[in-house]
Amino acid sequence: MHSSELTRATFDDVMVPNYAPGNMIPVKAKGSRVQDQAGREYIDLAGGIAVTGLGHGHPALLKALQEQSEQVWHLSNLLTNEPALRLGQYLCEHTFAERVFMANSGAEANEAAFKLARRYAWQHHGENKQEIIAFDNSFHGRTLFTLAVGGQPKYREGFEPVPRGIVHGTFNDLASVDALLSERTCAIVVEPIQGEGGVRPAEKAFLQGLRERCDQVGALLVFDEVQCGVGRTGSLYAYQHYGVTPDILTTAKALGNGFPVAAMLTTAAIGNSLGVGTHGSTYGGNPLACAVAETVLKTVNQPEVLAGVTERHQMIRESLEQMGRELGLFKEVRGGGLLMGAELAPAYAGKAKALMDAALDAGVMILIAGPDVLRFAPSLIIPEQDLAEALERMQVAFTQWVQTQQG
Ligand SMILES: *Cc1c(COP(=O)(O)O)cnc(C)c1O
Repeated sequence: MHSSELTRATFDDVMVPNYAPGNMIPVKAKGSRVQDQAGREYIDLAGGIAVTGLGHGHPALLKALQEQSEQVWHLSNLLTNEPALRLGQYLCEHTFAERVFMANSGAEANEAAFKLARRYAWQHHGENKQEIIAFDNSFHGRTLFTLAVGGQPKYREGFEPVPRGIVHGTFNDLASVDALLSERTCAIVVEPIQGEGGVRPAEKAFLQGLRERCDQVGALLVFDEVQCGVGRTGSLYAYQHYGVTPDILTTAKALGNGFPVAAMLTTAAIGNSLGVGTHGSTYGGNPLACAVAETVLKTVNQPEVLAGVTERHQMIRESLEQMGRELGLFKEVRGGGLLMGAELAPAYAGKAKALMDAALDAGVMILIAGPDVLRFAPSLIIPEQDLAEALERMQVAFTQWVQTQQG
């Protein structure tokens, strides 16, 4: 079929309606520029929802994928493979991890993390230590276990019964944790920066307090770094930026730059609780995925790339703050590194989607995080000229949009 015969309407004809994609259909992309079917160009500040941290078509990733594709694609976990071993080694050398479990998506890495936390407690403390403390507005994925741990009840609606033994505290509020904490607690699960929940960074004292409370009751601290990991905060992982070390960390999204891959990191002592046969995945540790992920980590984990994140953060922050002042559009600009959010002023509450659409019409792809927050997760190496141009286009589009609201 000729590609011009494929339109947005085709989506409604063949897809389950769980997504509401925009009208334009991208056909190719390079760096931070994306082209649609009509040849129109967009600057990408969405990064495939914080996934394409090295932009589109990065030469080192193309090379890694191509070379591995000519060696071996898939073997199963009845055998190991060199790319998986190299990725595991890299993660163990550059993080707190001593053991790694490979998966294919953020939800799967979290599923493994939560299962491990339960099983570790069961092995070491008996049957009454099963409770997981998580936080309101958190997001951990769409499998039944991960949406039960997530703190957004709308994602559970109509899917009950979901796994039990999960309670939710208030993010950045240790008193709310103290009210829930007990000897029954097996894990506390937190995103160092809540992504879907509105781009809300944890306070350092909050994460330190969670670490202390886990140690008090023998619970495991789990950091979901699916969105904020892999250089996004300007450190390879956000826990390094905060100086608070978890017992289990999950990573996905930018780990494969668009190739599906995820990992759960932990210590040797805790990892032991996933003995032979306790858990598994057909694709987890797939050579193609691991070859790409290893190259992603090596490319991101360079001082100049990580320093570039902080520079670009500053560019976006200054521009958004200026738009906020001039247009009265934002209540707050927040976030860390290149995971940033702009919360709309009360006068524009609920209009995030309309602004995202206005940006797209002006040739800039951005994201939202709920109805009131614009979210930005561009490539960590987006050329500063592209970024400046995108911010300019947005400034023009938002100025016009604000005028239509008043008109
Ligand atoms: C996206 C996300 C997930 C889910 O990842 P999938 O790859 O979509 O399963 C889990 N946790 C966080 C923090 C995320 O942002």
